[in-house]
Amino acid sequence: MDLEINIKFTLHFYESFPLFFKLKTMMEGVVIKSTGILHTILDSNDNIYLCTLKGSEKLKKLPFTNPISVGDKVFFSLEDNSNKGVIEKIKPRINYVIRKSVNLSKRSQIIASNIDLCILLVTIKDPVTTLLFIDRFLVTLDAYKIPTILVFNKIDLHDEKTKIIEETYKSIYNKIGIDTISVSILKGKNINILKDCLRNKTTLISGHSGVGKTSLINLLDGSLDLKVKEISEYHKQGVHTTTFARMLKINTLNGFIVDTPGIRGFGLVDISRKMLSNYFPEMKKASCQCKFNDCLHINEPKCNVIISLKNGLISESRYKNYLNMLDDSENYRYNKYKK
Ligand code: GDP
Ligand code: ZN
Repeated sequence: MDLEINIKFTLHFYESFPLFFKLKTMMEGVVIKSTGILHTILDSNDNIYLCTLKGSEKLKKLPFTNPISVGDKVFFSLEDNSNKGVIEKIKPRINYVIRKSVNLSKRSQIIASNIDLCILLVTIKDPVTTLLFIDRFLVTLDAYKIPTILVFNKIDLHDEKTKIIEETYKSIYNKIGIDTISVSILKGKNINILKDCLRNKTTLISGHSGVGKTSLINLLDGSLDLKVKEISEYHKQGVHTTTFARMLKINTLNGFIVDTPGIRGFGLVDISRKMLSNYFPEMKKASCQCKFNDCLHINEPKCNVIISLKNGLISESRYKNYLNMLDDSENYRYNKYKK
């Protein structure tokens, strides 16, 4: 008797929630485009799916204006016999870069997540990339814990003077353990060295407008030509419109490139004045031996950062740019990049 009731109850229970108990096949993939409510997902067999986000996942990511970004690794389920479905779960992110809010909501936008490497394209001229721009960028990426390589492009344009400037730049950054490569994307010089760095990785490409980002993407995979053209349309948008990153698969390298057209600089949650030197690795190291725990390395007695500067262990330009950032505001915000 008891058993019968039990079975009846169980059947009734299941029948009441037919959708809930319908078996779904869970799939895995990575978000390669996310521009609103529809997200494009690529699985490991290069199949593309269009998914919306399940309601409960949307609610979790309240600090951001967008709950999902390119680079997110997700589990999703499909509607029967279609390439449309629902993202059930976002896997925890290894890292992400954000853009500070440009509207009143004060919430930030996630630009991209799960990045293995960042390539900062630098040109000595046409356009000029300043050391201050590079140092600000490096501080931001250091805070995000994303390794960065400086790639000096357009070396085919170099004369004696610009060559010396490039060498000076390179020695400053090699000294603090940052790899540098000199290339000419136009002439194909040293491109294989660069390609080796990108193999099997998700790489964020950044740099001023005109440094050669689009040319690099075209060179990596000519078949992406169409998509790249589509991306450059983003440049025409105003500063205050919402822009999104695009992730492109580079089959020959078994990797992904993340391009952030129209996004001028990455935002960062405020860094206090006291914390800033921690994002200059050489200063962080030297500051262990400063007399005062809360030393800002400006003019404090027995400041080991200033001693290291005098001994040539810390580059003058890096220190000057540190002071510049320190000066910027009480709480330095990195979305103040000037282009
Ligand atoms: P993006 O704005 O960073 O995407 O830059 P683009 O890829 O559009 O390149 C800007 C300009 O620089 C284009 O006219 C390119 O042909 C040129 N360019 C790119 N790489 C090189 C290079 O290695 N040498 C020279 N001389 N010009 C280059
Ligand atoms: Zn100090």
